[in-house]
Amino acid sequence: MDEGHFCDALLGPACGFRLDHLEAVLAAALDGRYIFLTCGDYADGARPAGNFAVLRHDVDALPIRALSVGRLEHQLGILASYFFRVHANEYNAFGFENVAVIRQLAAMGHEIGLHAEPVDLAAATGCDPAGTLVASRAMLEAVADVPVRGVACHNDVTPDNNLDYLTGARARALGFRYEAYDDENLGLFRTATYLTDGHYWRWRSFIGGRRTDDERCLCRHVADGVAPLYVLVHPHVWPRRHFHLVDEAAAMPDGALR
Ligand SMILES: [Zn+2]
Ligand SMILES: [Zn+2]
Repeated sequence: MDEGHFCDALLGPACGFRLDHLEAVLAAALDGRYIFLTCGDYADGARPAGNFAVLRHDVDALPIRALSVGRLEHQLGILASYFFRVHANEYNAFGFENVAVIRQLAAMGHEIGLHAEPVDLAAATGCDPAGTLVASRAMLEAVADVPVRGVACHNDVTPDNNLDYLTGARARALGFRYEAYDDENLGLFRTATYLTDGHYWRWRSFIGGRRTDDERCLCRHVADGVAPLYVLVHPHVWPRRHFHLVDEAAAMPDGALR
């Protein structure tokens, strides 16, 4: 492991936000007999006996890293839910390479959902959120070639809270099975221990929908057998080598990082 990584000071050298640690955490959870579910599975009523974890990925940026995470999970026999933005300045979900990423994830059996930002879109552009949400879902389904049943609100560095528009009832009215934080159709955020890698290389923990001061890594919660878990991992902050090395071809040999 390369020492001195920028997030090690916060999380400890073993718990950096790197793909090898994510793999180790997921493998440890499987060893601990956690069962992994997609959000769609849970919305459909799946409630396994024993410990389970619902695994969600919001693709805020760098969809190629979602593919790396999806492949890793596929090798471990884990299915997760991947939510893609369609208005991001950071990437075009419907560009050729990203459509290929979405289709590969879908082909592995991962759930594909819409990472929505209706309040930001309306505030920034004047677009009607309802019409764009319906059209975005249809377009995502068209390229993924699987049903898109879930929507998860994106939270950006704006004053807007996209959840103000996209309540569970409105999500249903617009043709979605569930919204990722709703109480009515998914009902998971307030009932599970919710963990997210959040921003600035910290974990955040919520119990009963309220944030706690626990910033320990997911691996500690898994070691403690906490369940049920609702885990949000943003793939773009889990590089193989370094946050700024997206194309593996540009990465230096291991020893050169020291
Ligand atoms: Zn850890
Ligand atoms: Zn997001």
